[in-house]
Amino acid sequence: MTFNDLHLITPILQALEQEGYTQPTPIQQQAIPAVLQGRDLLATAQTGTGKTAAFAIPILQLLHRQAIPAPRAIRALVLTPTRELASQVGDSFAAYGRYTGLKQLVVYGGVPYKMQTEALQAGIDILVATPGRLLDLLDQGFVDLKQVQLLVLDEADRMLDMGFLPDIRRVLQAIPEKRQTLFFSATMAPEVSKLAKKILTEPVSVEV
Ligand code: AMP
Repeated sequence: MTFNDLHLITPILQALEQEGYTQPTPIQQQAIPAVLQGRDLLATAQTGTGKTAAFAIPILQLLHRQAIPAPRAIRALVLTPTRELASQVGDSFAAYGRYTGLKQLVVYGGVPYKMQTEALQAGIDILVATPGRLLDLLDQGFVDLKQVQLLVLDEADRMLDMGFLPDIRRVLQAIPEKRQTLFFSATMAPEVSKLAKKILTEPVSVEV
């Protein structure tokens, strides 16, 4: 199977070619069509499987198909447990999305607010964030999540291990209930499944 078989748009195919990707990994083969069809996703996948592209590629394609709202609004939100993962995910969106014209931003704690708040005010389509800094920015009125259509929880098991459940709950209250949710976790311990069940609607399950 090639990326062409997944019916990806030219700007994304060109970026993937530049990345040197020749064929989708198993998780990408299963996840990309489901997400493009608008389905929720429950993915059990470790790092190294290509899980980031499995959500970033279809999100970029879904958003690229729509008119950009004026003013620009956050339409996709990705939550990650750590700064390192947030910045890797941001790099992936930047790489695969370089020809889409979509704007993305990564926010995490431990760094000054100024650059993040300025970028938010200028307008972005995709926000990648760690939960704590996201809530800080939300409380201060720098982030509006009312137009979020796509939510990704990346490494959900690690977020729960790190005690982010209350933060995740608060984020869920700030985004529309009607949305598409993509849930990624390396493990499916009972508390992870419980959260997945609560926030997903008839998900497609993918395991690699
Ligand atoms: P991840 O599991 O998202 O952390 O990705 C692991 C690594 O695989 C990253 O360095 C990606 O750049 C790379 N990768 C993801 N998808 C593909 C693909 N289809 N072909 C080749 N490399 C890929």
